Amino acid sequence: MERLIRGARDLGVPLQQEHLDSFRVYFDELVAWNRRFNLTAITDYDGVQVRHFVDSLSCLLALPRAGLQAGARVIDVGTGAGFPGLPLKILCPEMRLTLLEATGKKAQFLEHLVVRLGLRDVEVIHCRAEELGQRVDRRERYDWALARAVAEMPTLLEYLLPLVRVGGAALAQKGEGAPAEVHAAEMAARVLGGRVRKLMAVDLHGLAETRYLVVVDKVAPTPEKYPRRPGMPAKRPLG
Ligand code: SAM
Repeated sequence: MERLIRGARDLGVPLQQEHLDSFRVYFDELVAWNRRFNLTAITDYDGVQVRHFVDSLSCLLALPRAGLQAGARVIDVGTGAGFPGLPLKILCPEMRLTLLEATGKKAQFLEHLVVRLGLRDVEVIHCRAEELGQRVDRRERYDWALARAVAEMPTLLEYLLPLVRVGGAALAQKGEGAPAEVHAAEMAARVLGGRVRKLMAVDLHGLAETRYLVVVDKVAPTPEKYPRRPGMPAKRPLG
């Protein structure tokens, strides 16, 4: 796992043997399950280390590890095969993690993987963000809501911000179009009770393209009508 070791070190998070063992199990399970179900297009050894594991861990540049270790409540929305939430949980076992995923097979894989990795305080929820954001026991309950490769910013903010408590924040991992996307989403952020705090460029060893971390603070409660019913945030994005 040379690429993972190097990438994590560059991020300031040196890995222990126990972490490497967990990532090895993660890799093996991902590849095995991917033969039966389409979980991800990236399954080669180097690609998984950089594009999935290190890229997920790069969230730690914007999300303080100390905060996660104090038992922070984190939700990863549209987590797919567990990115970025599960690599972060492997590094920060004290955090309380919810993995939210709309596709049943992916949720099944995650249930299996969580047991295989022996992780505690992880729950997998098979449901859509638009539904979870309207549940009283989930709405405005999380310190952090994370997402990678789920939707364009205005739609994504309607998924994430209703779940975040006032004083918490949403963190989106984005590609090269991030600066323009963020600009276009400022109105949506305001409507949903958010304020863009940070747009941070991240260059990872072994990856040609620049990645971005976008942090949006939750500064006011989200109006009750958001998120709208399933499908609407994508069909009619705010702004
Ligand atoms: N975050 C993972 C990653 O970066 O590898 C998965 C990205 S995949 C392109 C997008 C995932 O988001 C899919 O697994 C899809 O089922 C899920 N998704 C899309 N819209 C969703 C919604 N409204 N609620 C919950 N999950 C959603």
